[in-house]
Formats: sequence, C-alpha cells, structure tokens
Amino acid sequence: MAMSERGWSRYSPTNSSWMKEGQCRTVDPDIFFPTDGRGVERARQICAHCRVKEPCLEYALNYRIDQGIWGGASERERRRLLRQRRLSRPR
Ligand code: SF4
Repeated sequence: MAMSERGWSRYSPTNSSWMKEGQCRTVDPDIFFPTDGRGVERARQICAHCRVKEPCLEYALNYRIDQGIWGGASERERRRLLRQRRLSRPR
C-alpha cells in the first residue's frame, strides 16, 4: 500500500512530527545503530511493525542520514535507494 493511501502524505520529507509515533520510542535507541547483521535484523523487526515506517525512511533519505536504521533500511540500503532514484529521474 502506498504512503498516500494510508494518509501519510501529510508528512513531507522535511517534517519530523511522525517521530512521536515511532515504534522505537519505547526501546533502547542503540538498537537502531547496530554493529552487525544480527543487530540490523533486530532493528528491522521493530521497524516492520511501525506505522510511520515510510515517512521515517523518506526523512532519512531526504537528509542523507548515513548512520543507523531508519524506516527499516540500513545505511547501505538507503544509499542504494538514493542511487536508484537518481538513475530513474528523467533527464
Ligand atoms: S521505522 Fe523504525 S526507526 Fe523509524 S520511527 Fe519506526 S521504529 Fe523508529
């Protein structure tokens, strides 16, 4: 389901008001800065059930945040997404 279909379009990529609804507010923030693949998976599992996963990811992409797990995506995944978007943009 697309972000706008869930009413999340009210969040622009620069708006951070979604943060107060994040699933991660109730857990140790260090979980979202894992040091190994197992830690990444643990954070991802929390993000998977988060209702603001999409705006969280868009925020991280917009601000080029290069540390931690945002919207269920690792640093490497976010770099890949940005590269894909750049390549698919009309010239
Ligand atoms: S998607 Fe993950 S990092 Fe983002 S607000 Fe939700 S739980 Fe936190």
